[in-house]
Amino acid sequence: MTRPYLSVVIPVYNEEANLETLFLRLTSVLDAAGKPYELVFTNDGSRDRSAALLEQFHRRRPQQVCIVDFNGNFGQHMAIMAAFEHVRGDVIVTMDADLQNPPEEIPKLLAEIEAGHDVVGGYRKDRRDTLFRRIASKLINSLRARITHIRMRDQGCMLRAYRREVVDNINASNETSTFIPALAYSFAANPTEIQVEHHARAAGKSKYRLYDLIRLNFDLMTGFSVVPLQMFTMFGIFVSILSTLFVIYLFIRRIVIGPEVQGVFTLFAILYFLVGVGIMGLGIIGEYVGRIYQEVRRRPRFVIKRILQPDAEPATADRGEALTHGTRGVD
Ligand code: UDP
Ligand code: MG
Repeated sequence: MTRPYLSVVIPVYNEEANLETLFLRLTSVLDAAGKPYELVFTNDGSRDRSAALLEQFHRRRPQQVCIVDFNGNFGQHMAIMAAFEHVRGDVIVTMDADLQNPPEEIPKLLAEIEAGHDVVGGYRKDRRDTLFRRIASKLINSLRARITHIRMRDQGCMLRAYRREVVDNINASNETSTFIPALAYSFAANPTEIQVEHHARAAGKSKYRLYDLIRLNFDLMTGFSVVPLQMFTMFGIFVSILSTLFVIYLFIRRIVIGPEVQGVFTLFAILYFLVGVGIMGLGIIGEYVGRIYQEVRRRPRFVIKRILQPDAEPATADRGEALTHGTRGVD
């Protein structure tokens, strides 16, 4: 069987209402593009009918559809990581399953890859998410731009294309808590960005609660920068200098004016503030330590229940045995 030119990677978590439309739109765009391609879906522990629908896609196009089936929910980025280990294409495109990223934009990404770029990022035109998400995302984007070396207009956009070598490097890095667009950027020699359409989620709800978003953004900040730690060192130095001056000042007052109790509450306010900053500093150190701990434990990052690999054989009538084909245990 010919190796595909393009692999499209899609993480799926409870997306039953979107999958059929996604599959039809994807296949019609990619069939029209005329290059050999495959679709690699990771079922990230869905509890709805997503797994059954994906299996059916595999039956419909056994040579073009690969399904990585997790035995639990390991998160969007791990789902993409697992799919990356099974892609066969020269070019790899990632996108969401909820049709927020229109499949019709894929040829635009491919054109940039063919123009010689190894990473093509999308940035969303008229982003269609809640106001809260848009504002939070703007803030985090600008913070990330300040504390990391990553130059990216829209870190949250998952519609992106990578050359094979970039994905090989991502696979080799084997990270536990990571942020794929940023990781890819750190391996890119010649990245570029293009504007892509963005639609409202076709059906279902966002899978990210506020807590998940905070965790994900901590992964991004701690995974690609030590500036948060350095800021605390800087702040510590600054406070130490100020408090030394303050102690000298108080000492002189004690000698010149004598004992006094004014300003006690102001001092408490300052103290509480500094205690708060101190606890935050501990928290930030904890974020790094926790991730180091995760890495050194070397536990499997995800558990694959089974894999439905694209068939080498042309389609036959009975596809029953394909269900156990390529089954694998712990990854
Ligand atoms: N997703 C996943 N595992 C998760 C959360 C999300 O595989 O734990 C998938 C989800 O099915 C979708 C993509 O990741 O294809 C983006 O998720 P979502 O649309 O909920 O995120 P948002 O667009 O709100 O950032
Ligand atoms: Mg979405």
